[in-house]
This record gives sequence, C-alpha cells and structure tokens, in this order.
Amino acid sequence: MQIDKVAEIKSAIATAEARNQQELEEYRLKFISKKSVVGELFAEMRHLPAEEKKGFGQVINEVKQLAEQKFQELIEQLNNGLSNTKKETPDLTLPPTQIPVGGIHPLTATRQRIIEIFERIGFNLSEGPEIEDDWHNFTALNFPENHPAREMQDTFFIEKNPDIALRTHTSSVQVRVMENQKPPIRTLSPGRVFRNEAISARAHCIFHQVEGLYVDEAVSFADLKQTLFHFAKEMFGKTTKVRFRPSFFPFTEPSAEIDISCLLCGGTGCNVCKGTGWVEIGGSGMVDPNVLENCGIDSIKYTGFAFGMGIERIAMLKYQIKDLRLFTENDVRFLRQFRPML
Ligand SMILES: [Zn+2]
Repeated sequence: MQIDKVAEIKSAIATAEARNQQELEEYRLKFISKKSVVGELFAEMRHLPAEEKKGFGQVINEVKQLAEQKFQELIEQLNNGLSNTKKETPDLTLPPTQIPVGGIHPLTATRQRIIEIFERIGFNLSEGPEIEDDWHNFTALNFPENHPAREMQDTFFIEKNPDIALRTHTSSVQVRVMENQKPPIRTLSPGRVFRNEAISARAHCIFHQVEGLYVDEAVSFADLKQTLFHFAKEMFGKTTKVRFRPSFFPFTEPSAEIDISCLLCGGTGCNVCKGTGWVEIGGSGMVDPNVLENCGIDSIKYTGFAFGMGIERIAMLKYQIKDLRLFTENDVRFLRQFRPML
C-alpha cells in the first residue's frame, strides 16, 4: 500500500506545474510543508515496526528530495517566465529577418534595357496583336505571293483560314503604326513571335523580338548606322564595334545584317564567334518605298529605317548563355543567377 502511494506521489511531483505564484504556493503546501503528503509519510513511519523503519525512511527521504528539487525548478521556471514577459518589447538592434526576393527573368531584364536605351533617344513603345492577318504580317511588308515564309513549314496558320496566322515578326506592329500615325514616327515594338521551327539550343518556335522604326523627311542610312552604333555601345559596352553586311529582306531596301564585335574574345576569334571575331545581332535596312505606300505614307516625301533583333539572342550574348531552351524551362538554378544582389 505504502509503496503504491509513494509511486503516486513521485509521479504527481514529476508532472506538477506552476504557472503563477498561487500555483507555486499550492505545490509547496501539497508536497513540501509539514502537512503535505510527504509530511504525512513521515508521520506514518512512526507507526511502522522497527525493522521496516530504516528502508521506508530512505524511500521517503528520496521523495522529499525530489519534491524539493522540483520546487526549486518550478521557482526558476516561474522567474524565467516572468523575465521573458518583461523582454517582449522588440529589440530594434537585431538584424532583420531576410525576406526572399524574386529575380527578374533575364529576357525581361534584357527587354527593359533595350527599351530604356531607345526611349532615351526619342523612340516610343507600340504593341500589336499576336494573331495577325496576312496583310499586316506579309502583304503590306512587300512579301511576294510565293515567298517561302508564307508556307506552312515556316508559319503557324490558323486552321481553315489561311489569312490568319501567329505573327512571325513584330514588323506587323510597325505596319499598324504607319497606318494610324503620320510621320515623324519613331517607335519600338517589342513582343512575342512564332515560327514553325524545331526546338533546339539555337532555335525555338516561340521567341521575342524588338523592332525599331523611324520614318521622317530625309532619314538616311547614316542615321540607321549611328542609332544602332549607339545601341550596341550602351547595351554591350563602349569598346563594342559594329559592322553592317549587305543582305536581303522583302520590306527594306537596301538591307543589312548587323554584327557586333565578339564580346568574349573582343574580335580576335573564339568558339562563340566561330573564329570570325563578329556575332550577328539582327537585321536592318531602309524601309522599302512599297511598304511606305502600302501604309499610306508618301514615299517621295518620307524615308525611313527599320531594324529588328531577337531579345533571346541579345540576352545570350550579354550573359554568355549557350542554350536558348534555358529561358523557358524555368529551372530555378538558372533563374537564381539573375536575382538582384541585396
Ligand atoms: Zn569571339
């Protein structure tokens, strides 16, 4: 009987709690004071036969020590708790918790930088639909009837309507601007374009372009060269060189491909530039008089230049990215590298 009672008291001591001074006093009365359960055990000891007294005395002394030890613990806990409450005023000297900050996608960052450069020299922004009709995407831009770009293997046509397609370039936006505005026109059209191409490290069926258009009286090829020269230096650095290679596009005459000096080797030749020292960034030229006339602009009075660049291409050159697919895979290990430093 007494052994059971002792076990019960021990367990009650172990689980005892004191959340305030009153509960601490209750504990003291129950387990420490002379009239406590432990005190009662001592009183009972007197009635035991002499041979049992020694063993039982040891047991209840142990219980007494446990009770006192627990009492000290409870006092300490209560004091700590009270001092914690006092400290609840925030410590303003502590370093703040870091808030996770997202990054800007490299394509968005590149697009923004291109826009910034051209806006500062007077270009405004224009946008147009991604689903275009034949007129704005091809015919107004001087594409002949039999041009290969009009064929199924290059362009995504809307089923059952060969007149409607996903735009293959943002030049369609320039047509819309010229139809609706009078010169002087200085506009930049960034946007998503679509081509029926197999996805690889260097090609994708969806990519981004930015095209520029300047139409006014006496706009010359020298203006085009100077504008793109300015852009290349702002975008890639002051030592960047630019060269123009004769080319052909239906909507410009004359036309030229734009190359910049290789950013990696500075022009001496490496893998990126295939040993030539130059990398292509886009196409350009003087707006074909037919295109101006198609859009209702007098081609005798006005001339203009246009240029187009792939935003992915510029980003790949700027950040030395070798695979186009990385832009759309959303692998955070790739994207994390473009997170702004705090
Ligand atoms: Zn190189």
